[in-house]
Amino acid sequence: MPTVVMKFGGTSVADAEHCLAAARRIVQAKLDGNRVVATVSARGDTTDKLYEMAYEIDENPSRRELDMLVSTGEQISVALMAIAINKLGHKAISLIGSQMGIFTDDSHGKARIADIQPGRIEEELNAGNVVIGAGFQGVTVRAEITTLGRGGSDTTAVALAAAIKADLCEIYTDVDGVYSADPRIVPNARKLDRIYHDEMLELASMGAGVLHPRAVELAKKFKLPLCVRSSFNNTPGTVITEESDEMEAVIVRGAALNSNEAKVTVIGVPDQPGIAARILGAVASRNVNLDMIIQNVGRDGKADVTFTVMKSDLPDALDACNMAAKQLGAAGVTSDDSIAKISVVGVGMRSHSGVAEKMFRALADKEINIQMISTSEIKISCVVGEDRAADAMRAVHDAFELDKPENERSYSGITHIPGAFPEEH
Ligand code: ASP
Ligand code: MG
Repeated sequence: MPTVVMKFGGTSVADAEHCLAAARRIVQAKLDGNRVVATVSARGDTTDKLYEMAYEIDENPSRRELDMLVSTGEQISVALMAIAINKLGHKAISLIGSQMGIFTDDSHGKARIADIQPGRIEEELNAGNVVIGAGFQGVTVRAEITTLGRGGSDTTAVALAAAIKADLCEIYTDVDGVYSADPRIVPNARKLDRIYHDEMLELASMGAGVLHPRAVELAKKFKLPLCVRSSFNNTPGTVITEESDEMEAVIVRGAALNSNEAKVTVIGVPDQPGIAARILGAVASRNVNLDMIIQNVGRDGKADVTFTVMKSDLPDALDACNMAAKQLGAAGVTSDDSIAKISVVGVGMRSHSGVAEKMFRALADKEINIQMISTSEIKISCVVGEDRAADAMRAVHDAFELDKPENERSYSGITHIPGAFPEEH
């Protein structure tokens, strides 16, 4: 008998009516001959409300107690979902993370799943139950409750699917699937039928909110196909799969916008070996993750080092840089938090040149200034001013004709200017 994992997000279980609608889909999957594990998130904005309750009392509450608090959102949802399935005349049992054997490390608020012991889940499935499992949470070996980070229920679903060797993992959400760009910013964005794990991983990490990046990482690791689809209608959704020859390697699959980063520049540092390591090392030692990094060509023995960090890490990064700047005799430190990063992603970039050029041209035609650039094998990112972010997304989306089906696009005529982009081989 095939096993499926179905994940329902917060809006899909927001009230009794939605809960029953989701329950009907779960029951249908069971009637279709599947063993079913459903994972649910907290209802609507429950998680936000729970965090607010804590912050009303203390702006810096204990992380352990926060996990005790916010994990209850999912506990409410699973019990209600089991009740809904019972109401429809079927057997179901709700389980929280510890009951499902989801073991994590002890980093409260951003725990990582270390092991899943699915004995109890198997037992319940064999007894004919639909298992309704709480997303977002786990337990340490010391029986401490942990959570996996915002949006972590996706990760629970994928990890469970891997642990019980499910045949399919479906993510039911409030959109019809994965789009070529966020339709709220780019109105003619197109729903993708399929996308590769690697592409989805880049898009999710670059700001596409539809899936938790860690969930995609796990799906890739276990070669598990995912299907992202609407819980409100029956359209087929988007399938996220391993790379295969049968699917064409498109040059650009999608674009993403990330407005959560800020830029820091250390000005006029001595242009000597080891300086970048000193500055970036000082920032990294505060547990701040650096994203894009550039050092300009030195002039008169001085250079500037610029990098981006998450906005929430900006105070720590500035503090570290100010101290390093003093020690190194740099001229100063500046920052800008009104930036946005636009990225285009596609595995076909590996074998095509001229993609960066096309992106820069699209931005230039709209007189959008590019502040920073970075590339990887399957991604190109540009930092622009936040005020031009939406324009930039639309310009890039149009340039790569992402609104059209992949085989109807006309940019086979991309030309490469030799030597113009040394990062391209
Ligand atoms: N309820 C949690 C959150 O809002 C987990 C999730 O929705 O995936 O972040
Ligand atoms: Mg949520």
